[in-house]
Amino acid sequence: MLDGLRFDVAQASMGFLGHLVETNQASFYRVQAELPTLSRPLYEVLLTGTPVSVNGITANEVTRLSNQVSLFHLATDRGLTTAAAAYHWFSELYNRAPFDWFGDREQHNDSLPIQHGKFYFDDAYPDSHLFADAEVLRQWQPDFMLVHPMGLDYTGHCFGSDSKQYRGKAIATDSLLAQCLPRWIAAGYQILITADHGMNTDGQHGGITADVRDVPLFCVGDRFIPGIYLDGLSQLAIAPLICKLLDLPYGENMQKVELPELN
Ligand SMILES: [Zn+2]
Repeated sequence: MLDGLRFDVAQASMGFLGHLVETNQASFYRVQAELPTLSRPLYEVLLTGTPVSVNGITANEVTRLSNQVSLFHLATDRGLTTAAAAYHWFSELYNRAPFDWFGDREQHNDSLPIQHGKFYFDDAYPDSHLFADAEVLRQWQPDFMLVHPMGLDYTGHCFGSDSKQYRGKAIATDSLLAQCLPRWIAAGYQILITADHGMNTDGQHGGITADVRDVPLFCVGDRFIPGIYLDGLSQLAIAPLICKLLDLPYGENMQKVELPELN
């Protein structure tokens, strides 16, 4: 999950992902983010398939554990292994809150929803290190792993989305993925690449316009039917899609939405 990546910049600037689409190795969707287009609410949307009016994570400032059934819960309940290399808000939503940076930076505990976690708490944490963190976590052979860099969001806040810096960060992120994806594909993973929200030219997000609401979804793996699908998939479809991929039951409050066809 690439924080703060708007749809049109993903489509225009990420050439390795474009190559996978062009050669029928990936499918590409336009996804409409839920509201408000803010990070913590949309982390909860993506991981639980519930809108904020149901899950109560209505603002970035709501610092508490989720009270919903997340993908991490569903996976560990069925004996699968979970991992996350992610911003510390994910630890706060699913493992423990508030985040204690002395004790919660790295977590390994099979009784927690995120069994193996490496969490960062500086918005400028380098994406290269985050992807390396994810590779370290793969030694535990997670069935479900969240990889969550912040570089696009941070750069978008600093320079706005109509900037060489933001577009350059999209290219740099694509190059990091170009190094990781062949390894993940070889390991047999089905891979979803999406964003929580987009970014506007003011360097903000939170509202309802297409610049902050339209986000990409690239799907890489043999379960997906290659193609370009621009009608606008609901962001609430991501969690149940992952349930299908992992053969998990849906969470109690997951919304019934249209899902992409799978092989
Ligand atoms: Zn942001």
